Amino acid sequence: MASLFKSFFKRKKGAKASDVNKLSSKTSKVPEIAKPDFETTVLKRDAHNVSRKDISKNAIKVLYKLNDAGYQSYLVGGGVRDILLGLKPKDFDVATDATPEQIKSVFRNCRLIGRRFRLAHILFGREVIEVATFRAGHEGSQSELQNNKQTRKTAKALTDDDGMLVRDNVYGTLIEDAFRRDFTVNALYYTVQDFTVIDYTKGLKDLKAKTLRLIGDPVERYKEDPVRILRAIRLSCKLNLSIEKKTLEPIRELSVLLENISNARLWEECNKMLLSGHAEKTWNALYKEGVSNSLFSQTTHCLKSHDSKTKSKSFNLFIQSALINTDKRIAIKKSVNPAFLFSVILWAPLEECVAKLIEKGLSPYDANQKAADQVLNIQRDRVGIPKRFSSMIKEIWTLQYRLTILKRKSVLHLLEHPRFRAAYDFLCLRAGENKELKELSNWWTEFQELNSQEKDNILSKVSVQNKNGRKKRKFKTKA
Ligand code: ATP
Ligand code: MG
Repeated sequence: MASLFKSFFKRKKGAKASDVNKLSSKTSKVPEIAKPDFETTVLKRDAHNVSRKDISKNAIKVLYKLNDAGYQSYLVGGGVRDILLGLKPKDFDVATDATPEQIKSVFRNCRLIGRRFRLAHILFGREVIEVATFRAGHEGSQSELQNNKQTRKTAKALTDDDGMLVRDNVYGTLIEDAFRRDFTVNALYYTVQDFTVIDYTKGLKDLKAKTLRLIGDPVERYKEDPVRILRAIRLSCKLNLSIEKKTLEPIRELSVLLENISNARLWEECNKMLLSGHAEKTWNALYKEGVSNSLFSQTTHCLKSHDSKTKSKSFNLFIQSALINTDKRIAIKKSVNPAFLFSVILWAPLEECVAKLIEKGLSPYDANQKAADQVLNIQRDRVGIPKRFSSMIKEIWTLQYRLTILKRKSVLHLLEHPRFRAAYDFLCLRAGENKELKELSNWWTEFQELNSQEKDNILSKVSVQNKNGRKKRKFKTKA
């Protein structure tokens, strides 16, 4: 990797805006011309490792088809960034000067999505190639362009009183599109016209230094879109990039702005953060940088609770083991369910709420049901857990109680329950160092391994024990 970068950084010398102009002369639509003092790096094909064989065939098809129809088209974002880093991209994004309607007229398999900014999704079975029209950016990019003696007047994206983008559906040029992107390493463009990689924002230099840097003024960029805070943390953890000082500094203070983001978008972002194979690292970074409170206020409160250090410590261990397990499952391509992780993350808040309701006189069962609704409602306000997942979370919690009832009928019913496996896994994780819970989870582990005759024998014994008045396990709310 290092040598690869060395070679392409040596070669880039002399590659200037004029190269882009040369490039543009080959395209049927001429891209905006960069002024000579505008720092542009163009890497020729032999100076970088982005190869068509590393790009999905469908993305390549989209790039060529747009060019053939007379439009510019570039691979951009994670697709280029990850290949340059020697990683396999998760998906491929394309940028073009064609408007969404023009894109739609080129592809039969195209669906236009988005209200604020229309994007085209080109559908190839399960693969979706996202095609976005070049967009003009924020004020920061404007001033940056002017600092670079760009005098061209552009329509600006609009922000509200908090600086948040309320309109960024202004089409722009390739250069404007580069400056409206979030991080320098995300603004690298690859073209199949001459296989060059184009960089306006010094993203190649940052990639080489393994640095994640916001384009423009970080405070302004976070205010425009606070989700960039989550993207900074997620991408730095996923790609092992260190967040540049000025990009990192405002995060703690500005993370409250996440409250202005819709809970549906935060649900999407949480899934990306927690279900992409780097959950443990990302969760700990969110906590360390003071962001977790804006997403999981109840959980953060329990983790910070000074009432019982042992309680918050064991809750933290519980979360950590769930995150590590999730990462391991993803590494071996096993399925993961966000409901399971959320049921762990919200377990201590649930216990706290249950205890309060029992104190008020509710039965353990009723307290559990009511507490589950309360905790989930507060969480959904911030992170919009869809109904089917919140029902699953509630089931996993309710089954924790049922797992303690070792009676024939109950055990046999439970084994058939669609959420049994998740509830049992939850119990095993929750047991941690707790002797009683460990005993219970071991019972279930061993029981599942028995044949039906052996199961029958065991169940008649536990039924007799129960009849003989052996103290029935009570519902425990402590991990
Ligand atoms: P990955 O797909 O690996 O998670 P990515 O960087 O490709 O990472 P996407 O969500 O696919 O992330 O976005 C594609 C590109 O769109 C980004 O690389 C970036 O250039 C731009 N982008 C995405 N979100 C934002 C944002 N909030 N602000 C500015 N630009 C953004
Ligand atoms: Mg992407």
